[in-house]
Amino acid sequence: MILPDRVRERAERLTEALPAYVYDLAALDRHAAAVRRALGDTELYYAVKANPDPALLRTLAPYADGFEVSSIGEVRHLRSVLPDARLALGGPGKTDAELALDVHRVHVESPGELRRLIGMDAPADVLLRVNLAVPVEGASLAMGGGATPFGMDPAGVRECLGLLPASTRVRLRGVHAHLASGLRAPELLGLAETVLAFARELAAGEVDVGGGMAVSYHEPERLFDWETYGRGLARLRAPGETLRVEPGRALTAYCGWYLTRVIDVKRVHGEVFAVVTGGTHHLRTPAAKGHDQPLAVLPTGRAGTGTTGEPVTVVGQLCTPKDVFAREIPLSVNVGDIVAFGLAGAYAWTISHHDFLMHPRPGFHYLT
Ligand SMILES: *Cc1c(COP(=O)(O)O)cnc(C)c1O
Repeated sequence: MILPDRVRERAERLTEALPAYVYDLAALDRHAAAVRRALGDTELYYAVKANPDPALLRTLAPYADGFEVSSIGEVRHLRSVLPDARLALGGPGKTDAELALDVHRVHVESPGELRRLIGMDAPADVLLRVNLAVPVEGASLAMGGGATPFGMDPAGVRECLGLLPASTRVRLRGVHAHLASGLRAPELLGLAETVLAFARELAAGEVDVGGGMAVSYHEPERLFDWETYGRGLARLRAPGETLRVEPGRALTAYCGWYLTRVIDVKRVHGEVFAVVTGGTHHLRTPAAKGHDQPLAVLPTGRAGTGTTGEPVTVVGQLCTPKDVFAREIPLSVNVGDIVAFGLAGAYAWTISHHDFLMHPRPGFHYLT
């Protein structure tokens, strides 16, 4: 993939200090500004689990109406980084300690959870998380559309509506849905329309239609169509309604780069392997999702020590056949080259098994 000049320059300066993550905060700022513009009156919450790095959170803050958090740890983290930020607390399996946190919105996942919340007799503004029986074909992950542990089917929602009158302190504000991830704008708009129709039956004024905007690891230059999505949501919104989205991946994936260096190029039973410093214990994304992580090679190594244009499998330093970044991709690569993996700004470092094999941790660098 195309490596921006400023990331390339930093990579060359870091040659002896790899592996490392580089976050291009200026690029994130531009991207978030464009998303914000495209969304118009639709509220934007950032799903913190995609990447909770404080520098990224601070970069996003001017464009975000709030942050979607899913644990007591994320709440404490946000409180320390952005003390005034609005927080919406979601996630299945909230403990009593989590339900007792003072947040802007609680996304209720089940009637049992609502009963515990009402039993605490503390003020809470809630959205009911719905899981509607809608088709979610084409999604890379499905959190809804059928039996999953996320949210409630219409029967669960009806049960909640029966519980709510027992409390004056727990107030129903609206409906929340996060049904699938990896969808394009037209499919997400279709889901939003269904969720909105359901919410209107409940006379719920606030509707959070979730995240899940597609990021293509196969065609990294192909971005989610925020313009179409924003216009579509504006058309769907009725006067007086608040619409909200909570993307994670499609906001921060693009600003992150994981930089490594080739240690060895070898041929085994006819196939070529490039072994790089680091591995999927730093960037688990390709192993977790089963894709080839997009990459760029900087020819900083020694000519003649590798291969030219053959299919190469790029692997890390871990002693497991699962430590693979990309399989049999045509590549020219030599020992000492820098390999820069793109789309490493979301679901990357924090979903990785850092301590497996006890290799050193990468450095973290920020381009401002
Ligand atoms: C993970 C998650 C998101 C963000 O999903 P992306 O695919 O990263 O946009 C939003 N809402 C909820 C409830 C989530 O669990």
